[in-house]
Amino acid sequence: MELKIGIIGIGAMGRDHVERINERVNGAVVAAISDINKDTAIAYAEEIGATFFENAEDLISSEDIDAVVVTSWDPTHEDYVLECIKNNKYVFCEKPLAIEASGCLNIVHAETEKNKKFVQVGFMRRYDRGYEEIKHELQTGTLGETLLIHCTHRNEMVDEGYDTPMAVENTAVHEVDALRWLLEEDFVTAEVRLPKKQTTKTHAKLHDPQLILLETESGVIIDLEVFVNCQFGYDINCKVVCEQGEIGLTNPTYYSIKTERKDSTRVPSDWKERFIAAYDRELQIWVDGVKNDNITGPSAWDGYMASVTTSACSEARDTGERKDIKFEPKPGLYNQKLRETI
Ligand code: NAP
Repeated sequence: MELKIGIIGIGAMGRDHVERINERVNGAVVAAISDINKDTAIAYAEEIGATFFENAEDLISSEDIDAVVVTSWDPTHEDYVLECIKNNKYVFCEKPLAIEASGCLNIVHAETEKNKKFVQVGFMRRYDRGYEEIKHELQTGTLGETLLIHCTHRNEMVDEGYDTPMAVENTAVHEVDALRWLLEEDFVTAEVRLPKKQTTKTHAKLHDPQLILLETESGVIIDLEVFVNCQFGYDINCKVVCEQGEIGLTNPTYYSIKTERKDSTRVPSDWKERFIAAYDRELQIWVDGVKNDNITGPSAWDGYMASVTTSACSEARDTGERKDIKFEPKPGLYNQKLRETI
Protein backbone atom coordinates (compact mmCIF):
# COMPACT_ATOMS: atom_id res chain seq x y z
CA MET A 1 0.00 0.00 0.00
CA GLU A 2 1.27 3.48 -0.83
CA LEU A 3 0.86 5.87 2.11
CA LYS A 4 -0.99 9.04 1.07
CA ILE A 5 0.57 12.00 2.83
CA GLY A 6 -0.77 15.53 3.24
CA ILE A 7 1.73 18.34 3.83
CA ILE A 8 0.80 21.62 5.55
CA GLY A 9 3.16 24.49 4.74
CA ILE A 10 4.85 24.49 1.37
CA GLY A 11 7.84 26.71 2.05
CA ALA A 12 11.48 25.67 1.88
CA MET A 13 11.22 22.67 4.23
CA GLY A 14 7.81 21.56 2.97
CA ARG A 15 9.03 21.45 -0.63
CA ASP A 16 12.17 19.66 0.45
CA HIS A 17 10.04 16.95 2.09
CA VAL A 18 7.74 16.75 -0.96
CA GLU A 19 10.74 16.03 -3.17
CA ARG A 20 12.09 13.55 -0.62
CA ILE A 21 8.80 11.65 -0.26
CA ASN A 22 7.98 11.59 -3.97
CA GLU A 23 11.47 10.82 -5.23
CA ARG A 24 13.49 9.02 -2.56
CA VAL A 25 11.24 7.55 0.11
CA ASN A 26 9.68 4.18 -0.71
CA GLY A 27 6.01 3.46 -0.19
CA ALA A 28 4.60 6.97 0.13
CA VAL A 29 3.35 9.80 -2.05
CA VAL A 30 2.35 13.40 -1.35
CA ALA A 31 -1.36 13.34 -2.15
CA ALA A 32 -2.38 16.75 -0.77
CA ILE A 33 -0.96 20.08 0.32
CA SER A 34 -2.20 23.15 2.17
CA ASP A 35 -0.61 26.58 2.61
CA ILE A 36 -1.87 30.06 3.39
CA ASN A 37 -0.38 31.34 0.11
CA LYS A 38 -3.29 30.04 -1.97
CA ASP A 39 -2.22 30.91 -5.53
CA THR A 40 1.33 29.64 -5.12
CA ALA A 41 0.10 26.48 -3.42
CA ILE A 42 -2.52 25.74 -6.11
CA ALA A 43 0.13 26.05 -8.82
CA TYR A 44 2.52 23.86 -6.85
CA ALA A 45 -0.20 21.24 -6.18
CA GLU A 46 -0.80 21.01 -9.93
CA GLU A 47 2.92 20.67 -10.58
CA ILE A 48 3.26 17.68 -8.22
CA GLY A 49 -0.15 16.13 -8.94
CA ALA A 50 -1.55 16.68 -5.44
CA THR A 51 -4.89 18.02 -4.21
CA PHE A 52 -4.91 21.51 -2.73
CA PHE A 53 -6.84 22.09 0.49
CA GLU A 54 -7.53 25.70 1.37
CA ASN A 55 -8.22 24.69 4.94
CA ALA A 56 -5.55 22.60 6.70
CA GLU A 57 -8.15 21.06 9.03
CA ASP A 58 -9.97 19.64 5.98
CA LEU A 59 -6.73 18.10 4.77
CA ILE A 60 -6.18 16.50 8.19
CA SER A 61 -9.69 15.03 8.39
CA SER A 62 -9.80 13.91 4.75
CA GLU A 63 -10.38 10.17 4.34
CA ASP A 64 -8.00 10.27 1.37
CA ILE A 65 -5.06 11.22 3.61
CA ASP A 66 -3.33 8.56 5.73
CA ALA A 67 -0.77 10.71 7.55
CA VAL A 68 0.27 14.37 7.82
CA VAL A 69 3.54 16.32 7.67
CA VAL A 70 3.53 19.77 9.32
CA THR A 71 6.06 22.22 7.89
CA SER A 72 4.19 25.47 8.37
CA TRP A 73 5.13 28.48 10.47
CA ASP A 74 6.26 27.50 14.02
CA PRO A 75 3.26 29.05 15.90
CA THR A 76 0.82 26.89 13.89
CA HIS A 77 2.39 23.53 14.80
CA GLU A 78 0.57 22.90 18.08
CA ASP A 79 -2.95 23.32 16.68
CA TYR A 80 -2.30 21.22 13.58
CA VAL A 81 -0.72 18.43 15.61
CA LEU A 82 -3.63 18.43 18.09
CA GLU A 83 -6.05 18.26 15.16
CA CYS A 84 -4.18 15.23 13.79
CA ILE A 85 -4.40 13.45 17.15
CA LYS A 86 -8.11 14.27 17.31
CA ASN A 87 -8.49 12.62 13.90
CA ASN A 88 -6.32 9.61 14.90
CA LYS A 89 -3.77 10.49 12.21
CA TYR A 90 -0.04 10.01 12.47
CA VAL A 91 1.79 13.32 12.15
CA PHE A 92 5.39 14.21 11.46
CA CYS A 93 5.94 17.75 12.77
CA GLU A 94 9.01 19.81 12.06
CA LYS A 95 10.68 21.27 15.12
CA PRO A 96 9.61 23.03 17.30
CA LEU A 97 6.64 20.91 18.33
CA ALA A 98 5.08 24.05 19.86
CA ILE A 99 6.27 27.53 20.72
CA GLU A 100 6.08 27.00 24.49
CA ALA A 101 6.73 23.93 26.65
CA SER A 102 3.10 24.21 27.82
CA GLY A 103 1.96 23.75 24.19
CA CYS A 104 4.13 20.62 23.88
CA LEU A 105 2.57 19.35 27.08
CA ASN A 106 -0.93 19.84 25.61
CA ILE A 107 0.14 17.49 22.82
CA VAL A 108 1.62 14.98 25.29
CA HIS A 109 -1.69 15.01 27.21
CA ALA A 110 -3.73 14.54 24.01
CA GLU A 111 -1.64 11.46 23.17
CA THR A 112 -1.72 10.01 26.69
CA GLU A 113 -5.51 10.36 26.74
CA LYS A 114 -5.63 8.12 23.66
CA ASN A 115 -2.79 5.97 25.03
CA LYS A 116 -1.08 6.05 21.64
CA LYS A 117 1.84 7.89 20.08
CA PHE A 118 0.78 9.70 16.92
CA VAL A 119 3.54 12.33 16.79
CA GLN A 120 7.11 12.32 15.53
CA VAL A 121 9.20 15.50 15.78
CA GLY A 122 11.68 16.43 13.03
CA PHE A 123 14.91 15.98 14.98
CA MET A 124 16.79 14.45 12.04
CA ARG A 125 20.19 14.27 13.68
CA ARG A 126 19.18 11.03 15.39
CA TYR A 127 19.29 9.53 11.88
CA ASP A 128 22.74 10.88 10.98
CA ARG A 129 25.24 8.07 10.62
CA GLY A 130 27.91 9.95 12.58
CA TYR A 131 25.71 10.47 15.65
CA GLU A 132 24.41 6.90 15.39
CA GLU A 133 27.93 5.46 15.36
CA ILE A 134 28.98 7.62 18.33
CA LYS A 135 25.94 6.40 20.28
CA HIS A 136 26.67 2.81 19.38
CA GLU A 137 30.33 3.17 20.45
CA LEU A 138 29.39 4.83 23.76
CA GLN A 139 26.95 2.00 24.46
CA THR A 140 29.67 -0.64 24.07
CA GLY A 141 31.40 0.99 27.06
CA THR A 142 34.94 0.54 25.68
CA LEU A 143 35.70 4.26 26.01
CA GLY A 144 34.66 4.30 29.67
CA GLU A 145 32.52 6.98 31.29
CA THR A 146 31.57 10.06 29.28
CA LEU A 147 32.98 13.20 30.93
CA LEU A 148 32.60 16.20 28.62
CA ILE A 149 31.15 17.07 25.20
CA HIS A 150 32.37 19.93 22.99
CA CYS A 151 30.00 21.02 20.22
CA THR A 152 29.86 23.71 17.57
CA HIS A 153 26.85 24.69 15.50
CA ARG A 154 27.98 27.17 12.88
CA ASN A 155 26.07 28.63 9.94
CA GLU A 156 27.68 30.60 7.16
CA MET A 157 25.37 33.60 7.71
CA VAL A 158 21.81 34.46 8.71
CA ASP A 159 19.48 37.23 7.61
CA GLU A 160 18.28 40.22 9.65
CA GLY A 161 15.13 38.38 10.72
CA TYR A 162 17.25 36.04 12.86
CA ASP A 163 17.62 37.32 16.43
CA THR A 164 19.45 36.33 19.62
CA PRO A 165 16.73 33.97 20.99
CA MET A 166 16.63 32.06 17.69
CA ALA A 167 20.19 30.85 18.29
CA VAL A 168 18.79 28.73 21.13
CA GLU A 169 15.23 27.99 20.01
CA ASN A 170 15.80 27.30 16.31
CA THR A 171 19.47 26.37 16.13
CA ALA A 172 20.82 24.86 19.38
CA VAL A 173 17.56 22.89 19.75
CA HIS A 174 19.05 20.28 17.40
CA GLU A 175 22.02 19.65 19.74
CA VAL A 176 19.69 19.69 22.74
CA ASP A 177 17.71 16.78 21.32
CA ALA A 178 20.63 14.91 19.74
CA LEU A 179 22.75 14.98 22.92
CA ARG A 180 19.88 13.96 25.18
CA TRP A 181 19.29 11.01 22.84
CA LEU A 182 23.01 10.23 22.59
CA LEU A 183 23.53 10.08 26.35
CA GLU A 184 20.04 8.82 27.21
CA GLU A 185 19.78 11.27 30.08
CA ASP A 186 18.15 14.62 30.72
CA PHE A 187 19.74 17.98 31.38
CA VAL A 188 19.62 19.53 34.85
CA THR A 189 21.12 23.01 34.41
CA ALA A 190 21.59 25.55 31.62
CA GLU A 191 23.84 28.58 31.30
CA VAL A 192 24.37 30.95 28.37
CA ARG A 193 27.29 33.34 27.96
CA LEU A 194 27.11 36.20 25.46
CA PRO A 195 30.76 37.08 24.85
CA LYS A 196 31.60 40.79 24.94
CA LYS A 197 33.52 40.35 21.73
CA GLN A 198 31.18 39.75 18.79
CA THR A 199 31.67 39.23 15.08
CA THR A 200 31.37 42.43 13.02
CA LYS A 201 29.33 40.34 10.56
CA THR A 202 26.32 40.28 12.90
CA HIS A 203 23.42 42.76 12.96
CA ALA A 204 21.47 44.79 15.52
CA LYS A 205 19.10 42.05 16.76
CA LEU A 206 21.65 39.26 17.07
CA HIS A 207 24.41 38.58 19.59
CA ASP A 208 26.83 36.33 17.72
CA PRO A 209 28.49 34.01 18.76
CA GLN A 210 26.94 32.59 21.93
CA LEU A 211 28.15 29.89 24.29
CA ILE A 212 25.71 27.46 25.91
CA LEU A 213 26.65 25.24 28.84
CA LEU A 214 24.46 22.27 29.80
CA GLU A 215 24.89 19.74 32.58
CA THR A 216 23.27 16.30 32.56
CA GLU A 217 21.82 14.28 35.44
CA SER A 218 25.03 12.23 35.76
CA GLY A 219 27.26 15.32 35.64
CA VAL A 220 28.42 15.37 31.99
CA ILE A 221 29.17 18.98 31.01
CA ILE A 222 28.47 20.14 27.46
CA ASP A 223 29.77 23.33 25.87
CA LEU A 224 28.01 24.38 22.68
CA GLU A 225 29.20 27.26 20.54
CA VAL A 226 26.45 28.70 18.35
CA PHE A 227 28.02 30.97 15.73
CA VAL A 228 25.64 31.74 12.90
CA ASN A 229 27.69 34.21 10.83
CA CYS A 230 30.91 32.20 10.76
CA GLN A 231 31.34 32.97 7.02
CA PHE A 232 32.93 29.69 5.97
CA GLY A 233 29.98 27.27 5.81
CA TYR A 234 27.74 25.00 7.86
CA ASP A 235 30.01 23.40 10.42
CA ILE A 236 28.65 20.87 12.92
CA ASN A 237 31.05 19.30 15.40
CA CYS A 238 30.54 17.06 18.39
CA LYS A 239 33.46 15.62 20.35
CA VAL A 240 32.73 13.33 23.28
CA VAL A 241 35.54 13.11 25.83
CA CYS A 242 35.59 9.83 27.76
CA GLU A 243 37.89 8.24 30.35
CA GLN A 244 39.61 6.05 27.77
CA GLY A 245 39.51 8.25 24.69
CA GLU A 246 37.58 10.69 22.56
CA ILE A 247 34.97 10.08 19.86
CA GLY A 248 33.61 12.73 17.51
CA LEU A 249 31.81 13.51 14.27
CA THR A 250 33.72 13.98 11.06
CA ASN A 251 31.96 15.98 8.39
CA PRO A 252 31.11 13.71 5.46
CA THR A 253 33.52 14.51 2.64
CA TYR A 254 33.21 13.28 -0.91
CA TYR A 255 36.37 14.72 -2.41
CA SER A 256 39.45 16.79 -1.57
CA ILE A 257 41.35 19.29 -3.69
CA LYS A 258 45.12 19.69 -3.71
CA THR A 259 46.38 22.92 -5.19
CA GLU A 260 48.93 25.64 -4.42
CA ARG A 261 50.47 23.51 -1.65
CA LYS A 262 47.11 23.16 0.07
CA ASP A 263 45.01 20.02 0.59
CA SER A 264 41.39 20.98 1.25
CA THR A 265 37.97 19.42 1.64
CA ARG A 266 34.58 21.04 1.21
CA VAL A 267 32.57 22.50 4.11
CA PRO A 268 28.81 21.98 3.50
CA SER A 269 26.80 25.09 2.63
CA ASP A 270 23.81 24.36 4.85
CA TRP A 271 21.85 21.76 6.83
CA LYS A 272 20.13 20.42 3.73
CA GLU A 273 23.46 19.40 2.25
CA ARG A 274 25.07 18.23 5.53
CA PHE A 275 22.11 16.15 6.73
CA ILE A 276 20.48 15.06 3.46
CA ALA A 277 20.97 11.37 4.21
CA ALA A 278 19.63 11.84 7.75
CA TYR A 279 16.46 13.60 6.49
CA ASP A 280 15.89 10.80 3.98
CA ARG A 281 16.29 8.05 6.61
CA GLU A 282 14.16 9.96 9.09
CA LEU A 283 11.19 10.08 6.72
CA GLN A 284 11.70 6.55 5.36
CA ILE A 285 11.69 5.11 8.89
CA TRP A 286 8.66 7.26 9.79
CA VAL A 287 6.72 6.05 6.71
CA ASP A 288 7.60 2.41 7.52
CA GLY A 289 6.56 2.99 11.16
CA VAL A 290 3.21 4.49 10.17
CA LYS A 291 2.52 1.51 7.92
CA ASN A 292 3.36 -0.87 10.79
CA ASP A 293 1.31 1.21 13.24
CA ASN A 294 4.42 1.72 15.41
CA ILE A 295 6.46 4.91 15.14
CA THR A 296 9.80 4.92 16.98
CA GLY A 297 11.33 8.34 16.30
CA PRO A 298 11.56 11.48 18.47
CA SER A 299 8.25 11.68 20.33
CA ALA A 300 6.03 14.45 21.64
CA TRP A 301 7.77 13.91 24.98
CA ASP A 302 11.12 14.57 23.30
CA GLY A 303 9.64 17.72 21.76
CA TYR A 304 8.53 18.79 25.25
CA MET A 305 11.93 18.07 26.81
CA ALA A 306 13.69 20.04 24.07
CA SER A 307 11.34 22.95 24.71
CA VAL A 308 11.84 22.84 28.49
CA THR A 309 15.60 22.88 27.96
CA THR A 310 15.66 25.70 25.41
CA SER A 311 13.33 27.77 27.63
CA ALA A 312 15.78 27.33 30.51
CA CYS A 313 18.61 28.43 28.19
CA SER A 314 16.63 31.55 27.20
CA GLU A 315 15.97 32.38 30.83
CA ALA A 316 19.65 31.82 31.66
CA ARG A 317 20.66 34.14 28.82
CA ASP A 318 18.23 36.87 29.88
CA THR A 319 19.16 36.73 33.58
CA GLY A 320 22.86 35.90 33.22
CA GLU A 321 22.34 33.11 35.77
CA ARG A 322 22.60 29.33 35.69
CA LYS A 323 19.07 27.88 35.58
CA ASP A 324 17.73 24.57 36.84
CA ILE A 325 15.79 22.61 34.22
CA LYS A 326 12.49 21.37 35.61
CA PHE A 327 9.98 19.13 33.88
CA GLU A 328 6.77 17.21 34.50
CA PRO A 329 6.82 13.47 35.33
CA LYS A 330 7.19 11.35 32.21
CA PRO A 331 4.01 9.44 31.26
CA GLY A 332 4.44 5.66 30.86
CA LEU A 333 3.47 5.88 27.18
CA TYR A 334 6.90 7.34 26.46
CA ASN A 335 8.88 4.59 28.17
CA GLN A 336 8.51 2.33 25.13
CA LYS A 337 11.76 1.25 23.56
CA LEU A 338 13.27 3.50 20.93
CA ARG A 339 14.49 2.41 17.53
CA GLU A 340 17.76 0.50 17.65
CA THR A 341 20.73 2.34 16.15
CA ILE A 342 22.88 0.70 13.52
P1 NAP B 1 9.01 28.82 5.31
O1 NAP B 1 9.86 28.74 4.09
O2 NAP B 1 8.61 30.14 5.85
O3 NAP B 1 7.71 27.91 5.02
C1 NAP B 1 6.59 27.87 5.84
C2 NAP B 1 5.36 27.88 4.95
O4 NAP B 1 4.17 27.71 5.73
C3 NAP B 1 5.20 29.22 4.21
O5 NAP B 1 4.73 29.00 2.89
C4 NAP B 1 4.18 29.92 5.08
O6 NAP B 1 3.53 31.00 4.45
C5 NAP B 1 3.26 28.75 5.38
N1 NAP B 1 2.34 28.99 6.48
C6 NAP B 1 2.41 29.92 7.46
N2 NAP B 1 1.34 29.82 8.26
C7 NAP B 1 0.57 28.83 7.78
C8 NAP B 1 -0.66 28.27 8.15
N3 NAP B 1 -1.35 28.74 9.21
N4 NAP B 1 -1.15 27.22 7.44
C9 NAP B 1 -0.49 26.76 6.38
N5 NAP B 1 0.69 27.27 5.95
C10 NAP B 1 1.21 28.28 6.64
O7 NAP B 1 9.72 28.05 6.51
P2 NAP B 1 10.64 26.75 6.41
O8 NAP B 1 12.07 27.14 6.43
O9 NAP B 1 10.13 25.87 5.33
O10 NAP B 1 10.34 26.10 7.84
C11 NAP B 1 9.15 25.40 8.06
C12 NAP B 1 9.28 24.63 9.38
O11 NAP B 1 10.36 23.69 9.27
C13 NAP B 1 9.60 25.54 10.56
O12 NAP B 1 8.85 25.12 11.66
C14 NAP B 1 11.09 25.32 10.81
O13 NAP B 1 11.45 25.46 12.17
C15 NAP B 1 11.27 23.88 10.34
N6 NAP B 1 12.65 23.61 9.84
C16 NAP B 1 13.29 22.50 10.28
C17 NAP B 1 14.57 22.22 9.85
C18 NAP B 1 15.28 20.99 10.33
O14 NAP B 1 16.49 20.92 10.21
N7 NAP B 1 14.60 20.00 10.86
C19 NAP B 1 15.20 23.07 8.92
C20 NAP B 1 14.50 24.18 8.46
C21 NAP B 1 13.21 24.44 8.92
P3 NAP B 1 4.19 32.49 4.61
O15 NAP B 1 5.49 32.44 3.91
O16 NAP B 1 3.20 33.40 3.99
O17 NAP B 1 4.35 32.72 6.10
